[in-house]
Amino acid sequence: MQIGFIGLGSMGAAMALNLVKAGHEVRAWNRSRVADDRVPGITLVPRAADAFQADAVLTMLSDDPAIREVILDADLLASARPGITHVVTSTISVAFARELELRHKEAGLSYVSAPVLGRPNVAASGQLNILAAGKADAIAAVEPLLASISKKVWTLGEDPARANAAKIACNMMIAMAIEAMAEGVVLTESVGLDRADFLELILATLFSGRAYESYSTQLTNRSFEPGFKAKLALKDMRLAAEASRQIGRTLPMLDAVREGLTKAVSAGLGEKDWSIIAAMTVRDITIATGPDRR
Ligand code: NAP
Repeated sequence: MQIGFIGLGSMGAAMALNLVKAGHEVRAWNRSRVADDRVPGITLVPRAADAFQADAVLTMLSDDPAIREVILDADLLASARPGITHVVTSTISVAFARELELRHKEAGLSYVSAPVLGRPNVAASGQLNILAAGKADAIAAVEPLLASISKKVWTLGEDPARANAAKIACNMMIAMAIEAMAEGVVLTESVGLDRADFLELILATLFSGRAYESYSTQLTNRSFEPGFKAKLALKDMRLAAEASRQIGRTLPMLDAVREGLTKAVSAGLGEKDWSIIAAMTVRDITIATGPDRR
């Protein structure tokens, strides 16, 4: 299949390379220059509009404003190849997913929300979990593509916003798990228990899930390189807060992790892994920004 791809960042480049490995012809656009040897087998195109001249187009830009700027404001839907299916794999807001669905419908194009679970190394090994929602025929048209870059495609119904709400909820819960582990370490280190021993205990008994396994390692090794950048995680906590506000609910644990990420990003740590909030809580690092609950 001929596939357009927009956004060759940490996640996008890995996903596009796996599409090439699966035998697809990939024409990709990125805002800033990408060296050819970083994306072997991919044809780099000069304009984002060129990526919409394909059988399907995947977008992996950072957030709602980037997608709005690159695709909607530049009116790419009007000049897209007729019948194309556009798959947005970024983590975007519930409201923007609904707007994208409408704008594609008006342009006579198919739209699928397909945010992903998995960090860049998982994307590179083709083992993402993809949360897909949209019209059944649109999903069917792109499912083979999605299958070639993932371990599993979870189809969540016809309303694209479902996939985005599920993705935002997953990230919110990972942030809470990171903070929960850090707060457990605060209590147990205060009585001299080694954090590696405590984390081994909780992993083997009460909390054996993927998020705990993955982020306990960062806490034990005191290594906070991304991974998933704190600035993008803060974006996702904002999306979760917006979604909860729209249904008239406040989520107190969400407020706590959002505050931690806000402090980290304000202190210039936005490029670090989002588990940097654990480093702040256990005081592996301290941030000098006024009264600090950490
Ligand atoms: P990234 O490495 O920062 O890449 C972001 C991409 O968006 C780059 O291609 C960047 O272009 C482009 N971009 C940003 N603003 C733009 C604008 N105004 N105009 C044009 N292009 C723009 O981010 P990432 O880690 O790949 O994440 C991408 C998406 O995947 C995000 O929605 C994120 O939440 C989601 N996600 C990330 C992870 C993870 O662990 N990293 C996991 C799951 C989901 P330049 O190269 O020119 O900057």
